[in-house]
Amino acid sequence: MKNTLLALNEKAKPLGVWVADLCFPPRCSGCGVITDAVHGFCVNCFDAIDFISAPQCDCCGLPFESDLGADALCASCMQTRPPYTAARAAFHYNDASRALITRFKYNDSTQSLPAYVALLRRAGGALMQDCQVIIPVPLHRKRLIRRRYNQAALLAYGLARACDKPVLPDGLIRVRHTTPQVELARSARLENVKGAFRVNHRYAAYLKGQSVVLIDDVMTTGATIHACSMILMQAGAARVIVLTLARSVRD
Ligand SMILES: [Zn+2]
Ligand SMILES: [Zn+2]
Repeated sequence: MKNTLLALNEKAKPLGVWVADLCFPPRCSGCGVITDAVHGFCVNCFDAIDFISAPQCDCCGLPFESDLGADALCASCMQTRPPYTAARAAFHYNDASRALITRFKYNDSTQSLPAYVALLRRAGGALMQDCQVIIPVPLHRKRLIRRRYNQAALLAYGLARACDKPVLPDGLIRVRHTTPQVELARSARLENVKGAFRVNHRYAAYLKGQSVVLIDDVMTTGATIHACSMILMQAGAARVIVLTLARSVRD
């Protein structure tokens, strides 16, 4: 798969792009070094990314060691089906990808957006085909001011442009400021996001019966994704497909 992804970056470049590359050389979307891969990653960053691919849980996308069949579910989804229809992530959330995500999250790395959007599209695959609208997990306004932009919204915009679907950046609203999930123990995370989101009343009628793509950068315990999906389903969405760049994989 890595070869295919690398090949995507090595298509013949038009003359104008060669000239632009000389003036503004393309940089690695991971570490920022100058690289010849347009909107891609340098070899070091690319090798460090642990991509997720089939076989995986048909619902939450958890990768399996062996192929258990197309509709196979992990133990957790078999026990309690999550509120979303399916979730997929491009790569494992580990030390290497944490550095990439942090860079994307806290720096103005909008130039790396096309590379990440391409990974999201690849992770979503056929699941995205019948989806009608893209909605990002919202940030609270306080945090938005500090970070300057919501990386989930940025991904949602990029994805919407790439696959020509509408995006509702304010489709979901974070009604209260929550402690960053990374600072909490697993058990406290569900409690932390309880009642933290609602559907924007402006779109309440529009969302009924829609297939929604919900976007976030990372899925760790899944508490935030769980809460947002539940709100969308309660609002009458027909399906919620979750796409994230990275996800934690339980042992
Ligand atoms: Zn790099
Ligand atoms: Zn699962």
